[in-house]
Amino acid sequence: MEAGNPKPDKLCVHTITTKKWTLGEAVDAYSAEGIRGISVWQDAAAQAGIGTSRRILEASDLEVVSYVRGGFFPSSSSSARLAAIDNNRRMLDEAAELGSPLLVMVCGADPKISLAHAREQIQLGLEAILPYAEALGIKLGIEPLHPMYADTRSAINTLGTANDLAAAIDHPLCGVVIDVYHLWWDPALEVEIIRCGRKGKLFAYHICDWRVPTTDLLNDRGLMGEGCIPLKEIRHWVQKAGFDGYHEVEIFSERHWARDPYEFLKDVVYAYHHHS
Ligand code: ZN
Repeated sequence: MEAGNPKPDKLCVHTITTKKWTLGEAVDAYSAEGIRGISVWQDAAAQAGIGTSRRILEASDLEVVSYVRGGFFPSSSSSARLAAIDNNRRMLDEAAELGSPLLVMVCGADPKISLAHAREQIQLGLEAILPYAEALGIKLGIEPLHPMYADTRSAINTLGTANDLAAAIDHPLCGVVIDVYHLWWDPALEVEIIRCGRKGKLFAYHICDWRVPTTDLLNDRGLMGEGCIPLKEIRHWVQKAGFDGYHEVEIFSERHWARDPYEFLKDVVYAYHHHS
């Protein structure tokens, strides 16, 4: 640990970052590197089975930071919208079983309907599952996605839109998730970070980098320091907003996934301390 590091012990890694590993392998390797937090992706938990995943996590010294990812509410088909709500309730059950305090929501979009209409369906979907989330004591974190994903992945594309939605829903368990990959370009970012942070609505903070040039708009995320995102500036805003939670490294990268995951994980720890 560097002297004066303003974010000691706040490193969390998403299992998707080390996609080659099973949940058990990831837990062992993260612990060995002194990492304290883990965010579990559904595929990793499903591969091991939820019960086994819970036992693996309970036996470790890692804190489960979030379960990833629910949402995908909008559809032109009413039966698909109902199925999405059922699926989100199942994911809330899984999050509870795994001991996760937060379910990350990638809210969804359907190119057959307008973005405005999709946003109404997202609000209805979140409101439909909130009583269930409340019974389990699990927070819902609305993660805005970069507008390049507005066709099929999310109609929530800026932190301002996510903050407006959380304000409209107005429930203590509904807040937002900031992912620098999606939001770094937004001129309103600092103002919107302060807005959600001061209201206690900033639930999670995801980091990586934007490579220049980027070669793939899904699976070419950079390690912190490999790209052009002003990570230290954004971290300063997040901390100024009162956020003291984990800094979650979430990297989809064919380039990094092809490497030895142990070496990559060491680079993740280094980059967290020096470039974020
Ligand atoms: Zn994210």
